[in-house]
Amino acid sequence: DLIQKGKEVDNYFNSKLIDEDEVMAEVLKYNSAQELPSIDVSPAQGKMLHLMAKMKGATSVLEIGTLGGYSTIWLARALPENGQVVTLEFSPKHAEVAEENIRRAGVEDKVEILVGKALDTLPVLKNNGDAHFDFIFIDADKKNNPYYLKWALELAEPGAVVIIDNVVRGGRVADAESEDKDIVGTRACFDMLASEDRIDATSVQTLGSKGYDGFVLGIVAR
Ligand code: SAM
Repeated sequence: DLIQKGKEVDNYFNSKLIDEDEVMAEVLKYNSAQELPSIDVSPAQGKMLHLMAKMKGATSVLEIGTLGGYSTIWLARALPENGQVVTLEFSPKHAEVAEENIRRAGVEDKVEILVGKALDTLPVLKNNGDAHFDFIFIDADKKNNPYYLKWALELAEPGAVVIIDNVVRGGRVADAESEDKDIVGTRACFDMLASEDRIDATSVQTLGSKGYDGFVLGIVAR
């Protein structure tokens, strides 16, 4: 079926476009050995984030949802020497695994992990005066996406790129009757995007090794 085809095509594309990478392979192996769920972005999406951060010339990245640091490493590798990723993770265990992976990848000087509920750590960033992110990747608990988008707008530099992952959820996002909190949250996020003048966005559906999903891509007003 189509989902199976999507996986085959992703494998084919990746074999052409994504270099064999021992570190990334070890990161995923360590995640699974530590029993983290394999809900990281796919390799193709990881490289997409990496390329987008480079296209933007990003120097200051905010990530909400670290897991084992797979996407964090793709992003950190896109940054210049003085670039920084601040990544927010609720689970101390996930953060510990991520820290090990980030060290393994040699990008520990570029990454800071803040452990706690993102809705608690985001205000800390604001109070510390860290409201200068030029690239923001939202990939945590989907029910809170409208709040994460609100915080992204608070903490973004003018012209910042904002990406929100997993907004299609196998197509369920189109179901206005859904009572699933993640769908309700995602739809509330689209309501915000529809009415919010501070961001201009589109969304793209994807099919690949992680099934049928998609992301929002936006730019914060200048
Ligand atoms: N970005 C990661 C990657 O691609 O490698 C995947 C992140 S995974 C989809 C979502 C992560 O968000 C999980 O590690 C989960 O523990 C974390 N999370 C869930 N609720 C959270 C919250 N309230 N605050 C911060 N992180 C949270």
